[in-house]
Amino acid sequence: MLPVKQALNRAGVKRLDKVSAPDNSSDVTKHLPDDIPVALRDSPSVAPATVDRSMLVAGLTTLGAIALAAGILVAVQLQRSQPAQSNSAAVSASTTNPTASPTAASVNADTMLGHFRYPEAPLAELTPIVSDGSVKLRKAAAKAYQEMQAAAQQEGVSLVPLSGFRTLTDQDYLFFGKKAERGQVAAERAKVSAPPGYSEHHTGYTLDIGDGAVPALNLSPDFENTSAYKWLKVNAPFHSFELSFPKNNKQGVNYEPWHWRFVGDRASLETFYKARGKK
Ligand SMILES: [Zn+2]
Repeated sequence: MLPVKQALNRAGVKRLDKVSAPDNSSDVTKHLPDDIPVALRDSPSVAPATVDRSMLVAGLTTLGAIALAAGILVAVQLQRSQPAQSNSAAVSASTTNPTASPTAASVNADTMLGHFRYPEAPLAELTPIVSDGSVKLRKAAAKAYQEMQAAAQQEGVSLVPLSGFRTLTDQDYLFFGKKAERGQVAAERAKVSAPPGYSEHHTGYTLDIGDGAVPALNLSPDFENTSAYKWLKVNAPFHSFELSFPKNNKQGVNYEPWHWRFVGDRASLETFYKARGKK
């Protein structure tokens, strides 16, 4: 590379040469690629057009680069913000789910067609609540029921136990036998009867109650109009009985105003509530 002053001169000479002395141009041109940039720094007046153009080009290039960079940044920010939003959504979902997911998990694991799985009560735990021995409950539930029935009797209300503890075989007949008779598919049948292994009646804590004065309404939704139901609605909680399938229950089982379960001791509470995540 030539010294700055020489380069400047040569660049200047070149311009002059182009006009007045074309003979030297080839010699100068050889050095131009290296020399001109240096000369430009020293003296913009040497080649103003080139300076302006190159500065303009440089400026535009810079602006372009900045715009491009800005564009990329915006794009990157957008890309980042979208995953961030979906991430935060996922986080909020996972923070809200822990309260719901154990319930959902246990329900999914232990339900079929909307019914929870229940083990059959041990025979030794059962005791009859009617004279012919056809209806049985677990001892604690039986005692509470008989006290409740006596209390109702004192107020002129006749509670009649229709069905208590059921074996898997009993339920098998009710679910599959009745279903076939009625021509119902399993899902339909499950709304009015639990599949074997999934009936609260297996627990020995649950019974169906009728009104002795209106047997025609046994196991009917219209049982809710009987004095037996009206009495139970008010008084059953005092005897630790509750309705298992009220109207619009979360299990999706049909309303059963006649079907009551005992929740008056730890074992019964655990049976109906522990695995479901209910509060
Ligand atoms: Zn029932």
